[in-house]
Amino acid sequence: MPTEFISREITIGNLRLGGSQPVRIQSMTNTPTLDTDATVKQIIQLVEAGCEMVRVTAANIREAENLKNIRNALAGKSINIPLIADIHFQPKAAEIAACIVEKVRINPGNYSGSHHKAKKYSDTEYHKELDKTAQNLKPLLNICKRHNTTIRIGINHGSLSDRILYRYGNTAKGMMASAMEFIRICRDDNFEKLTLSLKASDVPTMIQANRMMVREMQKQGLDYPLHLGVTEAGNETEGRIKSAMGIGTLLAEGIGDTIRVSLTEAPENEIPVARRLVEFYGCRHTKHEVKISYAPYGEISVQRRPAIALVDETKISLADKKMLLLSYSNLPHRDLLIRAAVDFNLAYESKKADGLLIDNGQEGDSRHLKELALEILQARGLRYSKTEFIACPSCGRTLFDIEKVLEKVKNQFGNIQGLKIAVMGCFVNGPGEMAGADYGIVGAGYGKINLYKEGKILFKNLPEEEALDILEKLILAK
Ligand code: SF4
Repeated sequence: MPTEFISREITIGNLRLGGSQPVRIQSMTNTPTLDTDATVKQIIQLVEAGCEMVRVTAANIREAENLKNIRNALAGKSINIPLIADIHFQPKAAEIAACIVEKVRINPGNYSGSHHKAKKYSDTEYHKELDKTAQNLKPLLNICKRHNTTIRIGINHGSLSDRILYRYGNTAKGMMASAMEFIRICRDDNFEKLTLSLKASDVPTMIQANRMMVREMQKQGLDYPLHLGVTEAGNETEGRIKSAMGIGTLLAEGIGDTIRVSLTEAPENEIPVARRLVEFYGCRHTKHEVKISYAPYGEISVQRRPAIALVDETKISLADKKMLLLSYSNLPHRDLLIRAAVDFNLAYESKKADGLLIDNGQEGDSRHLKELALEILQARGLRYSKTEFIACPSCGRTLFDIEKVLEKVKNQFGNIQGLKIAVMGCFVNGPGEMAGADYGIVGAGYGKINLYKEGKILFKNLPEEEALDILEKLILAK
């Protein structure tokens, strides 16, 4: 684990971030960016829930330009929350947005626009492409300097550039290297107003990438603030546990200046989870009680054993297997799942165990505690006791009812061990970010879905219901 890392403090609009500032909470709208009224309404809901920065997608030039109307409408209501434009493939949209909003998020994996088609990169080709990327980025850096706009270098595990994949593979190290490429370009141009994010849907990868980033920054004397998040975490308990485990583990060791809990739900639902995470793990002065202990399975009373979630149920001789015990005192469920997910991961990283037993100081039926423990083992990638879902939180690019579709898919196919299904809002980023999924449901247009199997597209532009029927047939035929 890295030694203490103190980031530099920067200002984003009227908000101070990094250094000794509190961990800031942010979210993202999922309304169409061209629908000014709906987007403003959602931003106000987020502000009222306690959100401190809001990201809005700007998929093209028109959307980037409409950020001005959103900004003005908010100002008319005396709301000055910093806005962040989310940019993927369109440098021009970033340049327009940077004149309007306080921060622009770019994704190095798909920002440069030039994709080398060959499978291999010689050193010369690698550097040539990087030089081209630097040229593409220069106009944005100049605009950001003039307008005092911050840039977030937003790395996603699922969308690393081809040249990074060639050199490092789809790894945590590749994520860190991708961030370093863009940091160097910015520093060569004397641009320093940066924040960084390294996100993945796989929790251990997300944690590892951020730790590597901090170590690398410490080695190079850099101190850019970090934004933490787990991508495609999904919804309900599953989404909260994955986000909590990734974000909370890092916050507990002093890493992270701003966080987003991505849920495939109404964006304002993210804020209470984020607030609890900050309160539990982001405030260096508050200590919360948790009793962590270990016991051999054979020494745990017969009455308590049904609540144990084993990492490997096929083990025949359990008596001397080591169980990790987490004990709380009557925590409400919404807090228990956050605390148990983070505390388990912190404990497990320093001392492995063969099973997890959660105690909340209550008598009676403990089935819900076993379910929670199984969810935690699954989020950590230790045991897959049901279908694994990855689902993006949706944004202004989503043109179908992703929440409804995710709910239906979960109801229909939620309990198949070893199966991984992705539900993604758009075909621009969705396919790249659902790597490893057996099946993918990806938004294709208004109410339309593309269906993927093992990364390959099988059907295009299906109505929602038809897509689910076909998915059922595919899964049954497997
Ligand atoms: Fe938005 Fe989801 Fe597409 Fe990402 S995958 S850009 S969150 S719709």
